[in-house]
Amino acid sequence: MNLDINKIREDFPILNQQINGHQLIYLDNAATTQKPQSVINKITEVYTQYNANVHRGVHYLSNKATAAMEEARKTIQQFINAESETEIVFTCGATESMNLVASSFGQKFLTEGSGVIVSEMEHHSNIVPWQLLENQNKTKVVKWAFDDRGELNLAELEELIAENTKLLAITYVSNTLGTINPIEQIIEIAHSHNVPVLVDASQAIQHFPIDVQQLDCDFLSFSGHKIYGPTGIGVLYGKKQWLDELPPYQGGGEMIETVSFNGTTFNQLPYKFEAGTPNYVGIIALGEAIRYVQNVGLQNIAQYENTLLQYATDKIKSISELRQIGTAERRASVLSFVVDGAHPFDIGTILDKMGIAVRTGTHCTEPIMQHFGIPGTIRASFAFYNKMEEIDALYDGLIRAVRMLK
Ligand code: PLP
Repeated sequence: MNLDINKIREDFPILNQQINGHQLIYLDNAATTQKPQSVINKITEVYTQYNANVHRGVHYLSNKATAAMEEARKTIQQFINAESETEIVFTCGATESMNLVASSFGQKFLTEGSGVIVSEMEHHSNIVPWQLLENQNKTKVVKWAFDDRGELNLAELEELIAENTKLLAITYVSNTLGTINPIEQIIEIAHSHNVPVLVDASQAIQHFPIDVQQLDCDFLSFSGHKIYGPTGIGVLYGKKQWLDELPPYQGGGEMIETVSFNGTTFNQLPYKFEAGTPNYVGIIALGEAIRYVQNVGLQNIAQYENTLLQYATDKIKSISELRQIGTAERRASVLSFVVDGAHPFDIGTILDKMGIAVRTGTHCTEPIMQHFGIPGTIRASFAFYNKMEEIDALYDGLIRAVRMLK
């Protein structure tokens, strides 16, 4: 099926504007995606029609808000094919989801000398929470290095897994290199050594279908704002047997069953991990974003974005001054490059003057920059509302920027 991109773009009001006298070309989708009108409308709908705190009310508005929130949980459960809604925990983003696992899993299962393997291409949010545990309980963070194309070697994983390895925390898709890791094989290897796996799906969930039962991952995290939903809402999927075993993450309302000064008992899943008033407006709007994506169709999205990526990669290659960073065989929607002798920030600033939004810098992946010995990259990242003409404009803009700077 061919997507009608012009029609799709009408759903995203922000795209229709001039920046610095030029039509906006938004190529910063790995940082955050734009929101369709239906998601924006959903937020207004909640605040204008049934805003009330959830779960605790007997009145009409509270019941309606609660039902809408729980319906969103069901939408997300079905979207990733979790076995049960109780396996869907709402957090404020992928970062919090991974901190939750680090905190609760760390408390229960990590002791002095335990090892947590993370890859060299992780976002800081899947490195630093584990490093904090190094200070707390002497857990050891073990790096799984990638090669110069940005690919991980499965045989090396086999070698890294040791008796003390308690967890593998790994991204599905690199936000800087675009690498799609062979996550099914990785999980299979880890499981064959009884090592559970946390998958950071922040850059995967919006690009292709994910089935957590098929993957057999133990935990999976993502942020709502990267899949056309609002900011401030995220998801942690966890297999029920793990979530049952883990201690609560934060204390407060909602996560308890009873509280007394003689002791407190905790609520059932998933509420045990959802202390305080949840971001129910964000949750309801995330449900709407996922419905939107389902209507466009993730297979269609994957196919079209792949065409965009291929087109952009070929164009970039023809500019001799540019060097692509991340050339893995399987990549998703992210194109990083450098211009030797020019700072990424300067290129980004020149492109901005032409209305082209790209991201420059380390993209919260400093170990990747250290690997390549570079200060940062210029990163163009694509969504299904981007057009081939926008990539042509990026190409023209880059030629001009290179001429100005070299
Ligand atoms: N993991 C990856 C791969 C990411 O790209 C990002 C955000 O860029 C995150 C985690 C963190 O997401 P958030 O800042 O929404 O919590």
